[in-house]
Amino acid sequence: MVAAIAGSAKQAALNRSRKRMQDASCIFCRIVRGEIPCSKVYEDEQVLAFQDIHPIAPVHFLLIPKEHLPTLSETQVDHEAVLGRMMVLAPRLAREQGADDGFRLIVNTGRVGRQEVFHVHMHILGGKEPLGSMLPRPKT
Ligand code: 5GP
Ligand code: ZN
Repeated sequence: MVAAIAGSAKQAALNRSRKRMQDASCIFCRIVRGEIPCSKVYEDEQVLAFQDIHPIAPVHFLLIPKEHLPTLSETQVDHEAVLGRMMVLAPRLAREQGADDGFRLIVNTGRVGRQEVFHVHMHILGGKEPLGSMLPRPKT
């Protein structure tokens, strides 16, 4: 009973601090809060994975930190844990989604990286057949 109360107090504190770490207008923060529906692939305390709304490969889902972090350019030392967690989860979730013979992980970053949603996200792409080339290589 005491442990249950302590547990729910801990959860409430966690929710409060998570709220502080979110951006009211960010589309991915709104997905984290459940305000916008998503097709969920995986969730834990730190991260959420969901299907991309406009898939460009047979397997195409996004893996995001629940904390609002606009771009990979703004990461700091205290993001190491969550980014490391995402890296370790990516191959496991890719396999579970059917990409069992390799996949591609893309983190579009900033203007040059053509990032559209400014909440860090990993694209995990794959399928049964090899994907197209990453970028066209200049002819030599
Ligand atoms: P970026 O170009 O920023 O790396 O990619 C953003 C990705 O988010 C795009 O692939 C786009 O299809 C996806 N996306 C944008 N809005 C939503 C949404 O509301 N729900 C889901 N599931 N994906 C979204
Ligand atoms: Zn956000």
